[in-house]
Amino acid sequence: MAEALVLERPRVLSLRDIDLPCAMGPDDVRIRMEVVGICGSDIHYYRHGRIGPFVVEAPMVLGHEGAGTVIAAGGRVRHLKPGDRVCIEPGIPDFSSRASRIGLYNLDPALTFWATPPVHGCLTPEVVHPASLCYRLPEAVSQAEGAMVEPLAVGLQAVHKAGVAAGDVALVLGAGPIGILVALSALAGGCARVLIYDPAAAKMAVATRYAGIEAVTAAPGDIAGFVQAATAGWGVDLVFECSGAAPAYDVAAPCLRPGGTLVCVGMASAPVALDIVALIVREIRIVTVFRYANVYDRAIALMAGGRIDVKPLISATYDFADSIAAFGRADAAHPDDVKIQIRLPG
Ligand code: ZN
Repeated sequence: MAEALVLERPRVLSLRDIDLPCAMGPDDVRIRMEVVGICGSDIHYYRHGRIGPFVVEAPMVLGHEGAGTVIAAGGRVRHLKPGDRVCIEPGIPDFSSRASRIGLYNLDPALTFWATPPVHGCLTPEVVHPASLCYRLPEAVSQAEGAMVEPLAVGLQAVHKAGVAAGDVALVLGAGPIGILVALSALAGGCARVLIYDPAAAKMAVATRYAGIEAVTAAPGDIAGFVQAATAGWGVDLVFECSGAAPAYDVAAPCLRPGGTLVCVGMASAPVALDIVALIVREIRIVTVFRYANVYDRAIALMAGGRIDVKPLISATYDFADSIAAFGRADAAHPDDVKIQIRLPG
């Protein structure tokens, strides 16, 4: 039994003891969790009890954006030892599966993912995890930043899959945590300019504090006109759709240059109608992004080298004992808040 933040059913959380798997194999490490970020998906499960086909049918521990310290390592673990500070990739594939063998382990149908029902998350003092999915944090990267590697990995996956080229101009739709991290990843990946749009002025203020991120200051109906004017009538090379809002897709196509790339990152809550002919006649390429594979090392290196600074995105930190209050704040969705984190007792 271990204390954990448990989603009992929609809108009902408790901080209580629960039976969690704790057996450790030779390829696993045991980690004392230190910082866990609250993700949009945690909030979605809290509010609705489901995301698409994933339905919370039994009490589930929340949290999947975690960093901690190794306290024990299995007999076959070579790259980690007790005392190492790590961040943790929350999806566990079958590494021998066909998807894993072609490098797409994030798409392995057998993948289990923290806090995606029926799998428990990491808002609990200790977890056991495959060592191959735990990444050592260098001295320059704090545990709080380590807990930001997971959402940053989504941004880097988007940039890799889109095939960003040096000097590209990108538009990001949505300035939540993922939108901002996609924008920062696009800059780190070589974009010369990144424009961003969000209807919430407070989110735009946070995003545009970063050098290189430019605000699209237009009413929703005028975004394409603004972007065309900002690119001398050519359009942007890439649009990263990070809002999950269906109307964003109507905005995306007219902002793109001929042959541009539409990158779908935001999880729309309902099917989205696309004007396919409008995309065909301009040879718009569509790229989809689901989680990430093989990007954690890159995310950590970009943080350690000072190329991506996630610290301004951490809006508030709550103690584990106040986890329910932390979720209350995240659920209230203050427009100034980007990421709320929870610090475990350690
Ligand atoms: Zn997340």
